[in-house]
Amino acid sequence: MSQVYNWQLGRKMAYPFEEKHPDHQFAFVFNINRCIGCQTCSMACKSTWTFSKGQEYMWWNNVESKPYGGYPQNWDVKALQMLEKANPGKQEWDATKNGARRPYGAYGGMTMFEAASRRIGPEGPQRVLGYLPSDEEWRFPNTGEDAAKGPKGARGTYDKQGASLPEHNSWFFYLQRICNHCTYPACLAACPRKAIYKRPEDGIVLIDQERCRGYRKCVEACPYKKPMFRANTRTSEKCIGCYPRIEGKEELSNGTPWETRCMAACVGKIRMQGLVGIDKKTGDWSNDPQNPIYFLVKKEKVALPLYPQFGTEPNGYYIPPRWVPRPYLHQMFGPGVEEAIERYTAPSRELLAVMQLFRAQQAIIARFEIKEGPKVYETKINGKPWALFNDTVIGYDAKGNELVRMTVEEGLQKRPAERANSI
Ligand code: SF4
Ligand code: SF4
Ligand code: SF4
Repeated sequence: MSQVYNWQLGRKMAYPFEEKHPDHQFAFVFNINRCIGCQTCSMACKSTWTFSKGQEYMWWNNVESKPYGGYPQNWDVKALQMLEKANPGKQEWDATKNGARRPYGAYGGMTMFEAASRRIGPEGPQRVLGYLPSDEEWRFPNTGEDAAKGPKGARGTYDKQGASLPEHNSWFFYLQRICNHCTYPACLAACPRKAIYKRPEDGIVLIDQERCRGYRKCVEACPYKKPMFRANTRTSEKCIGCYPRIEGKEELSNGTPWETRCMAACVGKIRMQGLVGIDKKTGDWSNDPQNPIYFLVKKEKVALPLYPQFGTEPNGYYIPPRWVPRPYLHQMFGPGVEEAIERYTAPSRELLAVMQLFRAQQAIIARFEIKEGPKVYETKINGKPWALFNDTVIGYDAKGNELVRMTVEEGLQKRPAERANSI
């Protein structure tokens, strides 16, 4: 195994291949607080890529209710339990050890790559710790949907005391999932056919259907369980990051890179996707605070990786749900949770402007600019003064063309009296 630097863990870690990075990396931010669980994203992906025979169980995009939902069922609980079994009681973070190259501090536990050497089964040590879900676990994508966590030990009930922030007693939330197009993909590491590759131009991870022989090592290895087996072709398939759209090949786009189908279709306006520049020597994101994804993840630190402790350095980031008990969120998103929720609850002037760009249009926004507007409201949040400014945010594509212009306050269209009943 080589040693590679994983900035989300704040340390080097073992990985089967040498460290190598693309020019840009496909990345996205999902704001969990805004998701309404409508599954429009899931249907947008399915109706574009996975509607054919043999793909019935393929939900490259799925939205599951936490804590009880999961597709396949219990994928995260099982992966966390395997990690814990391999390295009991040591999956911990030291958040005090933070710095420029370790924004969340340092992870002292084991990753799925490191723990693999501890679990020697009949086949010998594996490259990645993982498991193959049973057919039943793939069968019901909606299990646990909208089921809230209630009082401990009282099944099927909810807390009668009602709910108030900062943490609700009865709670659930929607977790939106696609392939994370990881920096250190577990699927790629495990494939004995070398059928999986990471594109050097945008870091999208793909399975070569010609080389794949359906051994399902990727299905077993991916801790997020995002490769899926297709029985009639006997190959594995996964989210392709809608790469034709990223390449500007969408027919209506006139050559401009467009966000993926699941992003563009999002009704709740929770999704933003883009490309971040990568320093090929270090693997760090190139300093680019005017790129909205860079701004949200690296500068504002309001969006966090999903289960960073697995070690794949996932490129999907989530704004955590404000009402959920912190230990649960800490396990899911690492030690940056408190800071992210604090910043989201009382957003900075810049953050509030950038939030307006979510789903304002379809093309990938490479850069934003903010023009300051007047103060329109003042209040106190958590006892501290907070003000709302009606700033204007402008999004540009990579060539500097203006794509969109939004104000923080939404414009109000008043229907004239003669059209009062015109619907
Ligand atoms: S999420 Fe899974 S399938 Fe996607 S790149 Fe990472 S390891 Fe591979
Ligand atoms: S990025 Fe494209 S392929 Fe991947 S889940 Fe979204 S719509 Fe499906
Ligand atoms: S389309 Fe958007 S709001 Fe609807 S389920 Fe998907 S992520 Fe949530």
